[in-house]
Amino acid sequence: MDKRTIREADIAGKRIFVRVDFNVPLMDGRVTDDSRIRAAIPTIRHLLLGGASVVLASHLGRPNGKVQDGLRLRPVGERLTQLIGRNVPVTGSALGVGTEDAVKRLRPGELLLLENLRFHPEEEANDPEFARQLAAYADIYVNDAFGTAHRAHASTVGIAELLPAYAGLLMEREITVLSSLLESPEHPFAAIVGGAKVSGKLDVLTNLLTKVDVLVLGGGMANTFLLAEGKAVGKSLAEHDMVDEARRVLADAKKRGVEVVLPVDVVVAKEVTRGTEYKTIPADKIPASWHIADVGKATVDRIEAALADARTVFWNGPLGVFEIPSFAHGTIEIARFLAARADAGATVVVGGGDSVAAIAQQGLASKMTHISTGGGASLEFLEGRTLPGVDVLPDQAPVKVAAKPRTRARA
Ligand code: ADP
Ligand code: MG
Repeated sequence: MDKRTIREADIAGKRIFVRVDFNVPLMDGRVTDDSRIRAAIPTIRHLLLGGASVVLASHLGRPNGKVQDGLRLRPVGERLTQLIGRNVPVTGSALGVGTEDAVKRLRPGELLLLENLRFHPEEEANDPEFARQLAAYADIYVNDAFGTAHRAHASTVGIAELLPAYAGLLMEREITVLSSLLESPEHPFAAIVGGAKVSGKLDVLTNLLTKVDVLVLGGGMANTFLLAEGKAVGKSLAEHDMVDEARRVLADAKKRGVEVVLPVDVVVAKEVTRGTEYKTIPADKIPASWHIADVGKATVDRIEAALADARTVFWNGPLGVFEIPSFAHGTIEIARFLAARADAGATVVVGGGDSVAAIAQQGLASKMTHISTGGGASLEFLEGRTLPGVDVLPDQAPVKVAAKPRTRARA
């Protein structure tokens, strides 16, 4: 799937609308994790240095179509200004005469950021008139918002049908890396899937099973698989209505010869809170009134053994309640192990908001081969689904082959 990218676009002197995903966490009016902003900088720089003017647009949070002062993009504009070393003004609204004027006044090499697109209900409704108003700002459309590509909104799909559309450099990298996991992974290929629930990840598990050699299951979702194996999980988070599905996944893995690694020991706690009593016990001896909160040391050793010769690893979902330090060991150990594997030349790709946060917390993000900026989008991609925001972008022009001189047909 080779999408046309900004490298092929004629950008000098053009006004370019760039959909970015600046949906970043904020606290007290400050950006607490700027990785998504940093990830868009190569595209922004490429366009500005190429002599274009840039209109950036993003959503932030879930304002549900209404202006919410706490979800204004000003802190994002300030952070981008620091990172890129140029002033990035934020308009008062994505629409309106003031914004239109500000866009018109942009000179080559200048940029601005439109206010939160989701202050307008028309954005998520993919309203054609709203898309037309956004398209009127620019000559060219660029989508670099991989994290929002699974949504068919006005700024991801509607506008792409109205302007010459190109993938940004981040979008290109996300598609390239994730496609290669599905199409041509170097084997042995292992997936580690953890996190809270099976239900949200069943489709990705089903698709990954057709690609991987090893499947590691951890976190809360492994509990449902322990139930499927006939083990008790006490008061742990588990989905009793998903046990049959979990059994089907295990049977499918067996049929395909995929090695499945489930917890053999777990850290159980009286309550899933800080400062509670906890201990490590075998996974088949879980007392009725305790909660599973992390994988145990023997499980970590098993996982590392199963992944020792893996050439490709995809990881989504923490292995325990990593937000509480006592239950973060499994996740931290595996993050360190994967960083070392990547160092040794394996391809390690991590996707998922919480998994990425756990890795960032350990300062290991830069060690991995690729950290996807898309949580939901990367999972949908790996489910094998077509993302509307990707699908709408035109494919690369085929490489031109010199045409044979045509022999003139005789009359
Ligand atoms: P990601 O965002 O990486 O896709 P998820 O959103 O699926 O991951 O899951 C992350 C959540 O799963 C975290 O908040 C973590 O506390 C929780 N979790 C992990 N293990 C357990 C467990 N054993 N019991 C309850 N919650 C868990
Ligand atoms: Mg999450």
